[in-house]
Amino acid sequence: MATILVTGGAGYVGSHAVRELGRQGLHPLTFDNLSEGHREAVLSGKFVQGDLADETALDQVFASHSIDAVMHYASRCYVGESMEDPQLYYEQNLGNLLALLGCMRRHQVRKLVFSSSCAVYGDPTRIPIDEEHPLDPVNPYGETKYFIERMLRHYDRAYGMRFVSLRYFNACGASLDGRIGESHQPETHLIPRILQVARQEEGQLPIYGDDYPTPDGTCIRDYIHVLDLASAHLAAYKWLSEGNPSQVLNLGTGDGYSVRQVIDGAARITGRKIPSQVFPRRAGDPPQLVCAAGKVRRLLGWAPRHSSLEIILETAWKWECGRRY
Ligand code: UDP
Repeated sequence: MATILVTGGAGYVGSHAVRELGRQGLHPLTFDNLSEGHREAVLSGKFVQGDLADETALDQVFASHSIDAVMHYASRCYVGESMEDPQLYYEQNLGNLLALLGCMRRHQVRKLVFSSSCAVYGDPTRIPIDEEHPLDPVNPYGETKYFIERMLRHYDRAYGMRFVSLRYFNACGASLDGRIGESHQPETHLIPRILQVARQEEGQLPIYGDDYPTPDGTCIRDYIHVLDLASAHLAAYKWLSEGNPSQVLNLGTGDGYSVRQVIDGAARITGRKIPSQVFPRRAGDPPQLVCAAGKVRRLLGWAPRHSSLEIILETAWKWECGRRY
């Protein structure tokens, strides 16, 4: 029985992919150290608690299962934290990936779906951002994703290890039934923070800057529903399984929403008031990140199904109101 190893399968994006893999009759095996992830979020397949830094444990997983491919989600993913503690990012994101690739080589596993990020582009020089846009990450988080993409090209050339690197834009939303969703500690992301203000009916949402060169002065992002991210990973796995070559693909919708548009949308969906207060700009926030989404649609035949602002906010609200972890 061919298994798909999902590192970070207990995390926000990974857990939605694990569930989707199970639904499609595939066999996910989650490997997660639970530093950020949640055991309750793993709703399909086998779970092994382990750390990628523990190569013996990882080797054991490869030795005792027939692993066909790896989906690699386990990663530190906070821009601010990466600026404060770059070594943590180089050690964990790069070091752990090296260990994983070593294991994959030893056990002849040659298909990898990798979670990359639009942070590889740095401050964009043109919008929408296509895959040919220059790569110039402006923080250690983005740099680790950039270095890894470069490494993967060499692993492909030298060892025949094929990969699809998916450069996520802003992941958001939750499962349709409200069972799994986003739970970070502390929460820094816009949509959960807005909904926490709405639910608690107290406090104010900080708007980080309203003097950007955008129509309403607040930052514009390309929000993509986590279920659409999950289905893109499955499509990428299928792409590799059919023998196709390695690819680097943007994963977004191509539509941008400003911070104020998201707040207004959330007020509509929740029926609550969402008081806000303008603060200075947050360091490292580009005014606008919106992707050119044509390549992934063309190559993988994938299209977002849940990424309207309405569905994103409805599912995130359902999750927020009935949180299980
Ligand atoms: N943002 C905000 N207030 C918050 C959290 C985020 O104004 O409490 C803004 C942030 O400055 C950025 C956008 O919302 O322009 C999206 O931020 P998020 O942290 O969700 O994702 P990022 O784009 O940083 O990956």
